Amino acid sequence: MADLNPQADLATHEVFNQPPPLEDYNLFRTDSALMEALSREGGDGMRAEVDAYGSELGRAENIEHGRLANACPPVLKTHDRFGRRMDEAEFHPSYHALMALGMKHGQHAIPWEGETGGHVIHTAMHYMMYQVESGVCCPLTMTYAARPALEMQPEAMQFWLQGSVSRDYDSRSIPATSKTGLTIGMAMTEKQGGSDIRANTTRAVARGRQGPGEIYDLTGHKWFCSAPMCDAFLTLAYTEQGGVSCFLVPRWRQDGARNGIHLQRLKDKLGNKSNASSEIEYHAAEAMMIGEEGRGVRTIINMVTHTRLDCATGSTSLMRQAVIQAGHHVENRMAFQRKLSQQPLMRNVLADLSLEQEAATVLSMRLARAFDEAATDPQAAAFSRLAVAVGKYWTCKRVGVVVGEAMECLGGAGYVEESILPRLYRESPLNGIWEGSGNVICLDVLRAMQREPESVAAFMAEIGTARGRDTRLDRAIDHMESELGRLDDIEFRARAVVEHMALTLQASLLTAAGPTAVAEAFLASRLDGGWGHTFGTLEPGLDLQPLIDRATPVAAG
Ligand SMILES: Cc1cc2nc3c(=O)[nH]c(=O)nc-3n(C[C@H](O)[C@H](O)[C@H](O)COP(=O)(O)OP(=O)(O)OC[C@H]3O[C@@H](n4cnc5c(N)ncnc54)[C@H](O)[C@@H]3O)c2cc1C
Repeated sequence: MADLNPQADLATHEVFNQPPPLEDYNLFRTDSALMEALSREGGDGMRAEVDAYGSELGRAENIEHGRLANACPPVLKTHDRFGRRMDEAEFHPSYHALMALGMKHGQHAIPWEGETGGHVIHTAMHYMMYQVESGVCCPLTMTYAARPALEMQPEAMQFWLQGSVSRDYDSRSIPATSKTGLTIGMAMTEKQGGSDIRANTTRAVARGRQGPGEIYDLTGHKWFCSAPMCDAFLTLAYTEQGGVSCFLVPRWRQDGARNGIHLQRLKDKLGNKSNASSEIEYHAAEAMMIGEEGRGVRTIINMVTHTRLDCATGSTSLMRQAVIQAGHHVENRMAFQRKLSQQPLMRNVLADLSLEQEAATVLSMRLARAFDEAATDPQAAAFSRLAVAVGKYWTCKRVGVVVGEAMECLGGAGYVEESILPRLYRESPLNGIWEGSGNVICLDVLRAMQREPESVAAFMAEIGTARGRDTRLDRAIDHMESELGRLDDIEFRARAVVEHMALTLQASLLTAAGPTAVAEAFLASRLDGGWGHTFGTLEPGLDLQPLIDRATPVAAG
């Protein structure tokens, strides 16, 4: 029925003092810290492409794709109506649209195309896509990260090496040889052992000859296998004599039949809704061995190192999206006759959040450069070995509290499902769990310290360049040196040690790179004790406006 009294509606439903939606903005151009880092870390060769990606991702229709892909999660199809096995996950068109966008821009492929600064460019792209929709980043990241493992068997893997850098997204479930673009997943975790991969029970039996590049049949299960519509999966299984070995398991066999990979169910997860995470069984699944028999962990760690970089960036990205949502809201909302962004206590909170987030951006982009340099520079390789673990640990520990505090800046509007904040909040613990949970990462740092002392030397050399810039930083470096030299109770103290390494690295990077106001606020709060236990406890006297500007996307754009 038509509204009989439009005036009445106006009287009760006039909407004012509410921000417009944050959309149709360029995720790159409105992010000063990212733009500066792209140049500083060597990614300017594709600045125009990163800019174009940022512009496309910020369009209202792509933000809406991100919402829909999560509101309409994938559905498992085990069998067709005739009873034949299908073992597929059916996705919403919005998920496919964002996969196609990511692959078109080369988020998964650029580092392998020979471009200078390829990992830095990839990291900038991943960071922007993750803000709009993180679920698609799972297969995009795994496809990117699989390459160093595939390269352990270059001749046999030629087809996969080529197909996985295609810019075409081909969502069809058909044999890989008929597709225009390929994606690659990873299946390691089993029920009885996730972190402890050697507890795996999946068995591999050679069909004929044994060894790298040979065909095996795999039988067993994997308790977590995300993005099960990928065209192949890097997986671990025990051979009869050799021990844990790495295999590539395609979804379709060489003879054109479906491979013996049965999808048992999709996980009912806290967040990460757009991404299908499945439990699978291998029933004599056809697989090819990659790398040396019995050295499977060493082979797949080449992939895990790269996924860890993306975990660090992913957490950084969630922080960025949460902080700019907060910045946008407080800039467009009044309370007590003043904009929220002008209220002293809110300025303290927003500046503090912005500071935490920028420190994470600077760190992630520096890590990415180390990946670029590692191919030709052993020092960079040694630095990246340790620093990526430190960076993953710390950014993943910070993201949850940052997103929670940013949500509070939006008040009730941040807590409702129409807001992106609940999605960011639910996503925030995930990077901390996969690819090495917090403790496992800290133990990995200790392992590197014991077995690869060159990684500690490279880490110290990087931080050592900051000596003399600031007495607070010098003290932190001294403290770190003495902590790294103390071996008593080192396993018990590992989190404290890694945390201090992360903060000192961030401080050294910010003093070299960030605007003075950002570096000064970081030194004063994170290193000098001038900080409480929550955001918004920066001490008076700091120059907060630059931090607030950097968290307010439209004003800065
Ligand atoms: C949404 C989602 C998707 C996933 N997708 C995939 C996928 O595609 N492929 C895949 O292979 N896996 C996947 N995983 C699995 C993930 O990688 C594992 O959950 C993770 O590695 C941890 O293993 P776990 O769950 O067995 O925990 P556990 O290994 O049992 O660890 C439990 C806790 O104990 C801690 N811990 C372990 N060892 C020690 C120790 N020695 N000292 C102190 N603390 C310790 C860990 O840090 C952790 O906090 C996914 C997980 C999730 C949640």
